[in-house]
Amino acid sequence: MTTERPPDLDPSDWPVLRGQAHRMLDDMLDHLASIAERPVWRPIPDGVREHFRADLPRRESGLAEVHNEFLGQILPYGPGNTHPGFMGWVHGGGTVVGMLAEMLAAGLNANLGGRDHAPIEVERQILLWVRQMFGYPEQASGLFVTGTSMANFIAVLVARTRVLGPRVRGAGLTAAGGDGLVAYTSVAAHGCIRQAMEMSGLGSDALRLIATDAGGRLDPAKLRHAIAADRLAGKRPFLLVGTAGTVDTGAIDDLAALADIAAAEELWFHIDGAFGALAVLAPELAPRLAGIERSDSLAFDFHKWGQVPYDAGYILVRDGETHRATFASPAAYLRRETRGLAAGSPWPCDFGPDLSRGFRALKTWFTFKVYGTDRLGAAIARTCAMARYLERCVKAEPRLELLAPVGLNIVCFRHRGDDADALNAAIVADLHESGLAAPSTTTIDGKLAIRAAIVNHRTAEPDIDRLLAATLAFAATRRE
Ligand SMILES: *Cc1c(COP(=O)(O)O)cnc(C)c1O
Repeated sequence: MTTERPPDLDPSDWPVLRGQAHRMLDDMLDHLASIAERPVWRPIPDGVREHFRADLPRRESGLAEVHNEFLGQILPYGPGNTHPGFMGWVHGGGTVVGMLAEMLAAGLNANLGGRDHAPIEVERQILLWVRQMFGYPEQASGLFVTGTSMANFIAVLVARTRVLGPRVRGAGLTAAGGDGLVAYTSVAAHGCIRQAMEMSGLGSDALRLIATDAGGRLDPAKLRHAIAADRLAGKRPFLLVGTAGTVDTGAIDDLAALADIAAAEELWFHIDGAFGALAVLAPELAPRLAGIERSDSLAFDFHKWGQVPYDAGYILVRDGETHRATFASPAAYLRRETRGLAAGSPWPCDFGPDLSRGFRALKTWFTFKVYGTDRLGAAIARTCAMARYLERCVKAEPRLELLAPVGLNIVCFRHRGDDADALNAAIVADLHESGLAAPSTTTIDGKLAIRAAIVNHRTAEPDIDRLLAATLAFAATRRE
């Protein structure tokens, strides 16, 4: 018998570690507190890139030394989405609260695949909140996933179970009678819907892309027409995917009209609400999402408008039993008990393809509790107000033109000129390299647009002013 423990990977000198930990935390807090004073983004110097071509580290290094490498070679060259001048793609800004919660989650190192422990209860608490937010019933199930891409994929699989029965899991699509199944979404839908069709074995040829109206919303009349044509041709419509906040322009489909059609045609009604769904937290925006409560499933991200650090996607399913029947499987090593650590079934692993899962629920729980949903909703509404401010400035400036209506938080515009596509692509690259602002680009009606998606709670008028002034200045130098 010995009371000595063998050496493990934890430090031998906890007081030294404590000092180091404080410095690491302080450095990160300093970085975030002064974020606006730095460039949004900067190109990675060759020397820094080279730094990450090193050989496998056989020998140990001091924590302080490795942290110094982080400060010098990683921190300055991030994607920039914590910066108020970041307006590219649809990236959340994150918060210090979320960061601290993520650190605690790592300390706890819980595996959220299942079993009976408090972190699982926290994830169940989030499900309760999510049900309340979207008016879903008590039987609804939910699951944290990486992001909306995965959530949409899960929704397609659950819809497939609904139409073919759990038999499809064993028999496969054809033997289970899946030939001829077709699904519908709009041309403005995110590409991951197509990918979900491909990965589910249904094939993206079975996805009908319905035209949108002038506002970028799926046209219900055209949808009805496409369904009728498919039925006439012997196809079997089974799934309708609406979008609450399209990635290009932020358009919200007429969800109530789509819910009516789905009900009449007996289609599974899924909504991709990646960023837009959380607009339910802002009273002035919530009415635009009317009908969301009638969906069969809903995919969204806490890591976009919810400001929870990456990653934190979510899938919500009205009929929890069909959701479970899509994934749950009996495995001896996952045996459920009524007592002890192996109790508490069903487990999260019964509702998706992941077994080991991190504690995404904790940073979400902290974010919702610390800020409260009123304040989160107000931050969401403010990003839309910033978009309207940018829209007004663009309309007032003759050298600029607006390329799409601003429905939410996304503004698509461009500088006028000959060869405007090339000019505006160059302006955006100039903006990135200058570190002044980071919008992205998209194509609207064949025209390359500068696309400012305002998601970060830190973005304010001076950031919009800087984007506009730099856009005009870069255009002027390019035309000289
Ligand atoms: C961001 C986004 C997605 C993809 O979500 P991820 O979290 O990046 O996987 C899907 N649909 C829409 C409308 C989006 O904005």
